Amino acid sequence: MAKARKTFLFGRDRIATATRGRGKHEHTLGGPHDRTGTARADCNGILIHLLHRLDLTDPAVPIRIPGVRWLPLYYCFDFRANDLGYRLVSDEELVTFFPDDDPNVSPEESWPDDEGYPLEFPTCPITVGAFGYDPADLEDACRWAGVFGIGKLSARDQATAKERTAELMDGLGLHAPETDEEFERVMCSPFAQGRPDDPCLNPACPNREKRGQLTPIALLPAEPVPGVHTFGRYGGGVQLIFQLCPECATIRVSNQCD
Ligand SMILES: [Zn+2]
Repeated sequence: MAKARKTFLFGRDRIATATRGRGKHEHTLGGPHDRTGTARADCNGILIHLLHRLDLTDPAVPIRIPGVRWLPLYYCFDFRANDLGYRLVSDEELVTFFPDDDPNVSPEESWPDDEGYPLEFPTCPITVGAFGYDPADLEDACRWAGVFGIGKLSARDQATAKERTAELMDGLGLHAPETDEEFERVMCSPFAQGRPDDPCLNPACPNREKRGQLTPIALLPAEPVPGVHTFGRYGGGVQLIFQLCPECATIRVSNQCD
């Protein structure tokens, strides 16, 4: 499984990375909340943290959301919620949604580090650059199959990719996939625990009841910039996955461990 150590941004057949550094655009990571709807009082008493804040007018950012210039990546590191949803109303406002059906959450406020978990992450500049990805290349397609699938490969390369996957699973003593659905489930790199297929968290959205409709837009490692350990000292293997609902522009954030 590919370990995500960089922050990756996904668009239509495009990948970019977001790293610490100054560019022409004022992308940042960390800092105070950037719009209304994010305060504890608006979030069931839960403190959410701002990670990246991306200027979508930068052509290097592969993500476009109608009516949105500044895309904030928020997450709740408080274990009272594993997933966070938020709908971007404008560049000044968002609305959060918390799942009410997740049994694996803490009843009380608790943080990845018991002592001194920061109220916000220190602000640092971020620069976005292209990351080589060719959907028609066998290795690239396999590495990013969980995001883009392998449908842009030639029929011959698709067969090779499946053969390799079946051999790999067989070598591990696991059931080798046979159907297209089984291959899709298994070929999930770079997601450590499988391709996410959660429904939209917006109760008013037609995708609230449908799985597999959301589009991955970002994958963050636990240390998105050097020195910022978002999951504390021992949470180095946690990934954050940001998915966008194409119906209502709600973002759903969830974590996976590798
Ligand atoms: Zn939706």
